[in-house]
Amino acid sequence: MPMPSAVDLAAHPLTTWQGPLGLPDFTRIGDGDFSGVFDAALAAHEAEIEAISGNAETPTIENTLAALELGGEALDHVSSIFWCRAGAHTNEAIQALERDISPKMSRHFSAISMNERLFARIDELYQRRDALKLDAETLRVLEKTWKNFVRSGARLDAAGKKRLAAINEELSSLGTNFGQNLLADERDWALFLDEADIAGLPEFLKSAMAEAAEMRGQKGRYAVTLSRSIYEPFSTFSERRDLREIAFRAFTMRGQNGGATDNTAVVRDMLRLRAEKAKLLGYASYAALKLDDTMAKTPEAVHKLLDPVWEKALEKAASDQIELHRLAAEAGSNEEFAAWDWRFYQEKLRAEKFAFDESELKPYLQLDRIIDACFDVATKLFGISFEEKKGIATWHPDARVFIVRNADGSERGLFLADYFARPSKRSGAWMSALKSGYKLGDGSRPVIYNIMNFAKPPEGEAALLSVDEAKTLFHEFGHALHGMLTEVTWPSVAGTSVSRDFVELPSQLYEHWLTVPAVLEKHALHVRTGKPMPKALVDKMLAARTFGAGFATVEFTASALVDMAYHARPDAPEEPLRFEAETLEKLNMPDTIAMRHRTPHFGHIFAGDGYSAGYYSYMWSEVLDADAFAAFEETGDPFNPALAELLRKNIYAAGGSKDPEKLYTAFRGKMPSPEAMMAKRGLV
Ligand SMILES: [Zn+2]
Repeated sequence: MPMPSAVDLAAHPLTTWQGPLGLPDFTRIGDGDFSGVFDAALAAHEAEIEAISGNAETPTIENTLAALELGGEALDHVSSIFWCRAGAHTNEAIQALERDISPKMSRHFSAISMNERLFARIDELYQRRDALKLDAETLRVLEKTWKNFVRSGARLDAAGKKRLAAINEELSSLGTNFGQNLLADERDWALFLDEADIAGLPEFLKSAMAEAAEMRGQKGRYAVTLSRSIYEPFSTFSERRDLREIAFRAFTMRGQNGGATDNTAVVRDMLRLRAEKAKLLGYASYAALKLDDTMAKTPEAVHKLLDPVWEKALEKAASDQIELHRLAAEAGSNEEFAAWDWRFYQEKLRAEKFAFDESELKPYLQLDRIIDACFDVATKLFGISFEEKKGIATWHPDARVFIVRNADGSERGLFLADYFARPSKRSGAWMSALKSGYKLGDGSRPVIYNIMNFAKPPEGEAALLSVDEAKTLFHEFGHALHGMLTEVTWPSVAGTSVSRDFVELPSQLYEHWLTVPAVLEKHALHVRTGKPMPKALVDKMLAARTFGAGFATVEFTASALVDMAYHARPDAPEEPLRFEAETLEKLNMPDTIAMRHRTPHFGHIFAGDGYSAGYYSYMWSEVLDADAFAAFEETGDPFNPALAELLRKNIYAAGGSKDPEKLYTAFRGKMPSPEAMMAKRGLV
């Protein structure tokens, strides 16, 4: 049995969480600690696995499945802190460790899933599963575990197993490289502007750009950066067509700038390895492998959703472009209408049609009030409440800590949130868990966190959000609720451990409550006057919700279709970027709209494996969320208590404890069709 090294896992602050509220004591964790603790935790987990697989007793649920699920606690602890740091507050030391640890972890978990004695015990339980008279959740966990072993190569011969392990390890390193290259491109590019260059920019954007410039040592100037929080409003408001073009090109060329941070070869190698992996495991394509345990189940089912949406979106975008073109001509532009004009004239059209612009709304969307709104809706729907605890050390001073309480006041878990962008944080917004909640063994309470990238306001000013950013806040908080409300027994099906095309239901559904009139009236208060958003503005905002749907649906669906095109073929393209171009051409992609994520910066599918052959999931979930919110609308009460209880029980608390189709049907009484989603987007 391998002996743990000098690190004492039973005493180290990375593995024994003895800080305030049962959090890790972040004041005692140094960057230099991770490496040694990882090695010791990996060795300890290996020893646990050895004890389970070498057990002389007949396999039981207790001594095999439960032991497996509860093993590796120290490794879970150090990993969750490490990956939080790697995403939310990284530095060169953490990045170097990441390159070192990713392949080690991959090797470790490959070895477990290819452990023959361990699989033999799982297989024995699986073959006896009917005789064991298990409860439904335990049976599902056993079946999933067995299937995961098979999908991980448990039935391959020795040579096949060895090759699969090598592929997994290489893919994991390539995924890390992809993410780091992208971060470097985003960090290193900035366009510094002066007063003379910023015509048309609203106040919130000017102050965010001033802050970004100051952070980069150019106090007194304004920086366009490649953070979406700055890039998108800049291309929406800047009257300088030349600067919009420069920003557009930089944004769409992230990861494709030649040199050490170029992702072209990384993508080519990843696609090749993924195709090889699928073949090795007996699947027709990597998409077939990835979709096997989803709600959609096959690439054909995905196309059945995406193809009709794509056609409708193209029609809508084409008719929108005619109007935008007219506006451009009226504004005296005789240039050919280009991709860097779309957002700009779309905003003008929005102002013309709805007589307001985004910057009119922004003073009503104060970050702190929208956080309150998230909490308030959760209290109304699910009875939980939130209490902030100040002065608790986390990974960064910006992160805030909240105790989550049940209706009876008892503690349910913790919620941490880190809202502002900084150069040490990767772009985007996400939810994750320092600890997931489950009942098995001694049980565990959830410690969930949200990371956002909102522009930090100057000292003393309130942070203001765009409507999209406020939606993102609700979205990630919906994921957080999925983690916090969990009531399952088994860790592997707890919280967000559900199939990818189901996991966005709790988050996208939650977005609907942001625009419920009662929520806006209470929380959308003007930053200076404290007055609620005027009814006329609310009405216009609601009417404007489907505005721009052609553009948004085209940029999203193009990315989803290119993702499927890469992964549904049995082999891999020699030149991915050429394949991307050819695929778009076949799809009749308008040249005035860019993919939301082009290949060289499509982190969802290449910075790790998370959403490969799975970007469609957001829209799949949207079909579910549109239909689910319609259930509340049909009752005339957005907080209908009986429905909220069905929603809590079958969706937010149920994790992956049952088949997603069963869970959804238990809540809604039937499966959804795409009509509510198309209507919500204004495409029909
Ligand atoms: Zn999400």
